[in-house]
Amino acid sequence: MNAERRYYDPDVQTMPLERLRALQAERLARQLDRVWSVPVPFFRRKLEAAGLRRADLRGLGDLPLIPTTVKDDLRRSEEEHPPFGDYRGAPIEACVRLGASTGTSGRPTLILWTPKDLAVDHAASARGRWRWGLRPGMSLANAHPFGVNAGGWHFSHGVEMLGVLNVPSGPPLGEAHVRDVLEVWRRIRPDMYRLFGNVARTYADAARAMGLDPERDLNLRITGDHPAEQYLMVSSGLEALPLLGSACEERDGAHLAEDLAIVEVIDRRTARPCGDGERGNLVVTVLEKDNFLLRYDLEDLVRWNTKPCPCGETHRRLFYEGRVRDVVRVGDRELLPIDVAFVLYEFPEVSHPSAEYQIVRRADVLRVRVEYDPAVDAGGLARRLGERFQERFGVAADVELVPRGAVPRFAYKAARVVDA
Ligand SMILES: [Zn+2]
Repeated sequence: MNAERRYYDPDVQTMPLERLRALQAERLARQLDRVWSVPVPFFRRKLEAAGLRRADLRGLGDLPLIPTTVKDDLRRSEEEHPPFGDYRGAPIEACVRLGASTGTSGRPTLILWTPKDLAVDHAASARGRWRWGLRPGMSLANAHPFGVNAGGWHFSHGVEMLGVLNVPSGPPLGEAHVRDVLEVWRRIRPDMYRLFGNVARTYADAARAMGLDPERDLNLRITGDHPAEQYLMVSSGLEALPLLGSACEERDGAHLAEDLAIVEVIDRRTARPCGDGERGNLVVTVLEKDNFLLRYDLEDLVRWNTKPCPCGETHRRLFYEGRVRDVVRVGDRELLPIDVAFVLYEFPEVSHPSAEYQIVRRADVLRVRVEYDPAVDAGGLARRLGERFQERFGVAADVELVPRGAVPRFAYKAARVVDA
């Protein structure tokens, strides 16, 4: 593999759009055939209930006729047809790996991969991480969880496929584990780290407590948790295509893998497709995998960047904005944690080294609880923050400043929205 190459898969990533759409149409037709030929009872039922036969679905333009599917539909299918449900595109005997989605929003669903499914996921992952400068011969530490949640497996195999020395470290699970991980990092000094903000800080704090300098001794730099970092990647979950896209050096949205998935952004109330810059639900149709999903609505909010990218890649770009369940309605405004975070990062007093905050769900006022630097005047800071929120979003804001360490830390992903 030529490490100087600009794109991981140049033919695919720079394919003219017209050819890309033709490829999608051909791959979609193959998945639709399989709904009836495998068959996949869940999707067959869904299509037939909508009055659709195979012959009614002739091309990409007919895709919006297919009803969307959400995680709850998959859950119900698994309950009614235990243990795997009846939505699988491959017979269970053909599957070689099982994972479970995280149970944060209800009963976890089971995820199955055939060898081909793994190959597709890993190729997408390699393509995505190549854009970040990861090259064969480098080493990379990750802190994704292993076990049944499967994120660590996916991440690890994807980077190993690139020829990278993978250092699977796991989230910090107790003192002994943290010490063992730090000892490995000290010896290896990985070229790159992929750690969520709080995870990086937990490890860095423990390193300092052991008398180590994270940057000098471990090559671990805490880059902060600026909300724009969230725009560097888009995932459609382990059940669809885990690394759906990543940002190129333009850092203006994540280039999707449109050869492997058809991506739609739809308004969740009207089902109308969203245009450039409009927030809507991410809906993904998985191509090329044996276990595929048709028009799977991730209940995630995203927005398009449909402008051609100067980097030369043709696949469209997407910004990941947050989860639908994290939408906070204040008056007639719909806000997400990322909106609040962008404002907080204008104020070093609450965002250095990182903003630790929670939004308390209230309908009448934007209530934000945030940790602050105790050296500053709290009354004046709370007022300035409140004025900036009001100016930015046009809603009344109530800012509660709390001491460092008062907002709960999470081992994996932070819960930014809490009920009053
Ligand atoms: Zn680009």
